Order: sequence, then C-alpha cells, then structure tokens
Amino acid sequence: MGIGDGTLAVGAGRPEAENYAPSLPGPVFASHFHLAGEASGPYTYGRDTNPTWTLLEGAIGELEGGAEVVSFSSGMAAVSAVLLSQVRVGDVVVMPGDCYQVTRVLKERLESYGAVVRMAPTAGDAQIALVGGARLVWLESPSNPGLDVCDIARVVEAAHAAGALVAVDNTLATPLGQRPLDLGADFSVASDTKALSGHGDLLIGHVATRDPELAEAVRFWRKTVGAIPGPMEAWLAHRSLATLQLRLERQAANALAVAEALRGRVSGLRYPGLPDDPAHAVAARQMRRFGCVVSFTLPSEEAAERFLGSLRLVMQATSFGAVHSSAERRGRWGGDAVEPGFVRFSAGIEDTQDLVADVLQALPSPSPRER
Ligand SMILES: *Cc1c(COP(=O)(O)O)cnc(C)c1O
Repeated sequence: MGIGDGTLAVGAGRPEAENYAPSLPGPVFASHFHLAGEASGPYTYGRDTNPTWTLLEGAIGELEGGAEVVSFSSGMAAVSAVLLSQVRVGDVVVMPGDCYQVTRVLKERLESYGAVVRMAPTAGDAQIALVGGARLVWLESPSNPGLDVCDIARVVEAAHAAGALVAVDNTLATPLGQRPLDLGADFSVASDTKALSGHGDLLIGHVATRDPELAEAVRFWRKTVGAIPGPMEAWLAHRSLATLQLRLERQAANALAVAEALRGRVSGLRYPGLPDDPAHAVAARQMRRFGCVVSFTLPSEEAAERFLGSLRLVMQATSFGAVHSSAERRGRWGGDAVEPGFVRFSAGIEDTQDLVADVLQALPSPSPRER
C-alpha cells in the first residue's frame, strides 16, 4: 500500500530532516556557483542547474509516480522542448486537432523544419488511424477547451507498435488526476501555471519521463534555448504542491456541482466527471480526479458576455486551475473551433454553495417559451 495523495503532496521533494534547516529551503538565486578547478559538479552555471529546480523536479517526479523531471519557464517551453527536440526533417508527428491553441501553432513551425504533421480529433481515439510511420504522437486528454478524452493506454499501444513515441499534455488533470507515464506514455508534459501551482501568480512547466536518454535530450534542449524557470517561480510552485490534493478535491467537487447546476440550462455541457458525459467512461478508467474545468455554450456571444459580467465570485480571465474561480468566452481569442457563446469555466476553492448560487444568478432566466 502506498501513501495517500495528500501525504504524498505535502511531503513531495522535501529534503531529509536536518536540525536548524527549513523544511523547504528558500529559492537559490545564482547565475554561477563557486567552481575552482574542474568544470564539473552538480551546480556550475545557472542555465544548466539550480538547487531550487532540483527540489521541485524531485517533487514533481514523485507526483508523476517516479520519473525524471525537467522544469521549464512555462508550459509552452515544456511543450516545445519535447516537440522540437524529438522531431527532425522528414519525421511524422501526429497531433490532436483540438489541442491547446498555442500548441497547434507549432504545426507550422514543425512543417517549416521539414516535418510532416497529421491531425485528428481527441475524441474516439481518432489519432490511432494516423500513427503509421510516425516518430511522435502528441495527445492532450482531457483537451482544452473542448474537454474531450482519448483512451491513452490504447493510443500508446498503437503508437508503440508503429515505433512512435507518445507525449501527453497532462495540464488539465495534473499528476494527481492522471499519470500518463503509468498509462505507457513516454513523456508527461504540463503547464504547471495552471492547477499544479494553482494560485494564478506564476508561469512554469515541466516534462517528465522514465527514459534517461529522453530526459537528457530534453534537459540539453533547455540548456541550449535557455527556457529555464526562475528560482522564485520554482520555489513558489514547490511550496504550492503541499496543498495540491486539497485544492484538487475542492475544485473537482465544485466543478461537478457547477456542471450539475447547469444541466438543462445550457447547451453542449461538458465535464468528464459527469456520469452522462460522452467522455466519462474512458475518463473514469484512466483518471483519478476529473479536474476543475467545465465547458458549455450559451445562445450567443451577447448572452455569454452578459453571463460573465453578472458573475460576482468568478473572475473574468483566461487560464484555469487557480484557487479563484475564473471563466471566459473562449471564442474571443479566435483560435479554437468553438461557438461564439462557448464558455470555459474553471472552478476554484470557494464554498460550493456560494459558487453554485453565483452561477445560477448569472444565468439568463429561461424565456417563457422554454419554461
Ligand atoms: C496553458 C496551457 C499550455 C501552455 O502553458 P503556459 O504555461 O501558458 O505556457 C499548454 N497546454 C495546455 C493544455 C494549456 O492549457
């Protein structure tokens, strides 16, 4: 029997007890370290290594179920590190057509480097049909913002049989919600800007893998592009992990309560934790928590803007996963195939009854015809 997630999160990456030392040493600010003689040792230059990253990477490695972790300055730095360090001229990459919109922008970058990019939707494991001859299969499950899910183990099996590596963007779930490496993936990648750090006050990301050579390739990529996290951000992220299980529990409970309150009042309601959601069966098999994001559609852009403007406890902002609930009309960015009234709602840690009451008061009252 392993320890519980709360116990794991609160102690993750903390050094052995030592008298007069803090339980989590503060951020180490150093561009270079004392280094007389030989040019080797654990800490040499601040773009290569930093003791604050070492502790954070150890902690996230524990949450991932045991893995080498390389932390980055943002989620996109982590995503790019895998895609751009692994793919060469002529390689085939399979990507989800409905993944995070900035990841999708990398399609053109990869093509400009001579790679071939094939795309298929997340739902229904559609990427399996495209894995023949691929070097890398990129998954995002649940997808942002559509909240579709694929059967990760099933896609991994098909991809590995075809000789391809698999990377999963696990941002939405976090490692306490889903462990891609345990499902067979080669890389688990995330924007820890979102639920993992969870306070909406920093950007950071990571890549986790159990293959030392892949870890080394990603670490070398970080060194050469310099996409390193600041020590302060790394320390804040590590400090935030202590409450990860508590936050995720409340956020998932709030998301489910909001989704249930919205049932019948909106169209296109999606939350993988809803028993009748199209993704629920697969999600329940591979996820331990269903996350904090609910998506739905109101009849028009105006209706969605009115709803957002009427919320009192929910900040209007992009991003998700923070302790404060937030929501936005996703179509305002123009990059996602969503309707004008599509809302992405991120449940925070407010009291459930307060959050549900706020959402209900902000909804348009049903028209007489609908009543
Ligand atoms: C936000 C996000 C990213 C990018 O992360 P940043 O920290 O903003 O760079 C990547 N993937 C997913 C699924 C995201 O939601």
